Amino acid sequence: MTRQVEIYDSTLRDGSQGEGVNFSLEDKLRLSQALDDLGVHYIEGGWPGSNPKDAEYFAAMEAIVLDNAVLAAFGSTRRAGKSAAEDENLNKIAAARPGVASIFGKTWDLHVHDALRVTLDENLAMIESSIKFLKDKVGRAFFDAEHFFDGCRENPEYALKCIEAALAGGAERVVLCDTNGGRLVREVAAGVDAVLKRFPDARVGIHCHNDSGLAVANSVEAVMHGADMVQGCVNGFGERTGNADLCAVIPILDLKADIRAIGRENLVKLTNISRFAYELANMPRRGFQPFVGSSAFAHKGGVHVSAMARNSRTYESIDPEVVGNTRRILISELAGRASVLARYPALEAHPDKMKPVLGEVMRLENEGFAFENADASFEMLVKRIIGAFEPAFDLIGFRASTEERDGGSISEASVKIRIGDIELHTVSEGLHGPVGALDLALRKALVHVFPFFDGIRLIDYRVHIVNAQAAANAKVRVVVQSQEGEDTWGTVGVSENILNASCQALVDSFQYLIMRHGGKSAANHRRRLHQA
Ligand SMILES: [Zn+2]
Repeated sequence: MTRQVEIYDSTLRDGSQGEGVNFSLEDKLRLSQALDDLGVHYIEGGWPGSNPKDAEYFAAMEAIVLDNAVLAAFGSTRRAGKSAAEDENLNKIAAARPGVASIFGKTWDLHVHDALRVTLDENLAMIESSIKFLKDKVGRAFFDAEHFFDGCRENPEYALKCIEAALAGGAERVVLCDTNGGRLVREVAAGVDAVLKRFPDARVGIHCHNDSGLAVANSVEAVMHGADMVQGCVNGFGERTGNADLCAVIPILDLKADIRAIGRENLVKLTNISRFAYELANMPRRGFQPFVGSSAFAHKGGVHVSAMARNSRTYESIDPEVVGNTRRILISELAGRASVLARYPALEAHPDKMKPVLGEVMRLENEGFAFENADASFEMLVKRIIGAFEPAFDLIGFRASTEERDGGSISEASVKIRIGDIELHTVSEGLHGPVGALDLALRKALVHVFPFFDGIRLIDYRVHIVNAQAAANAKVRVVVQSQEGEDTWGTVGVSENILNASCQALVDSFQYLIMRHGGKSAANHRRRLHQA
């Protein structure tokens, strides 16, 4: 039978201690539900003793039913010189009514002397009595052995005594922490071995920080040595360089180690939850993030792309779909024939056009164009060069303006286009900004000739700064996604002027729609125009 490892998510607690991460109460509730749906086993919701927002969170969670996860409340061992029952923080944990209490305590003698300033024996008593109190009040208690691996290096006998005290108090899991993120893989392995050798029946967890870039590796190694719980955060959020990234730990266990974490059936949700957490934290995504990053399955080098076209296993360790991500073939100056052919196989029949196509792609990329999300613009570029596409209309000019009126803003746009030898001039007004008004004016002109313009929808509009260092003179790249029926396509425009870039992307989208419907047929257009 496949071994099961529990996933203990700390995004809401340790993760929210990361620089730039700030979750509102509402964010925390939404993320909790998403984590539960992902199939993690524990959600560490917060530290009820540390701030009122966390206490409010636990109160609000009483109304939310979790299907998979147990809610954990975090805290520390009692203060020195007082009983556990008198300790305010421990009582706040109990009052939060979590499914399990997780408290950290010192296991490195250096910290006991210099940070806590109590005797080694008093620290052991603090661990045991705090765990015992929570076990009584909450029903379940875990012990986070803070700085365990540092303690293990300098005073292993004492570090193990701390584990013994936690087990004596009734800790269900002892979670070994590389709190400073400084220990190597072999040291983590030795620490887990030492605990399981001394306490063969103990259930061990692992909690690693990423200060040496080893948090994921150390977590996986601990599991190989018998740990059966991994603590970490979505996207590796957390103090300093963060915690172990669960978006990496989970697929490694489920796909490569033959160990069940959340199960393969849930892995497909991973990329989504990663993006959702960035969204809530209001942080930019990291494209290079393993498994879930936008570049995780993006292929650019020409040799890679040609091999990928034959067999995706050549340059991918897993299928992107398994973790809910997607493969992307990037067109770029690095890529040769193969990337272009992978995106437009019909070019094979025009070997003499390969060079002009690559030249044009490079020229446009230097100007700031990117075709990764603009398949339709790319297709028309290639077709124009091989003579298979001619624009159905020309944009002669446009004007757009916005006026503040009666407390709202109204935008107006006028466009002039030429179809064959006929010029059309239309004006539109709208409440959705100048780009929206431009879109309306263009359609108003085109629908005279091409009735199918009723069926097109713009589903996404994005602006990227191309050369941010140029500040106010920066170029912008506008990428538009359009939809007709089930089909969607992307187009792109680049300019120093955002309206110009938007207009290019819109015109490309509309040219593409016309091409899909059979393209330019001048006689037909004229006939329709004369009827109109
Ligand atoms: Zn931590």
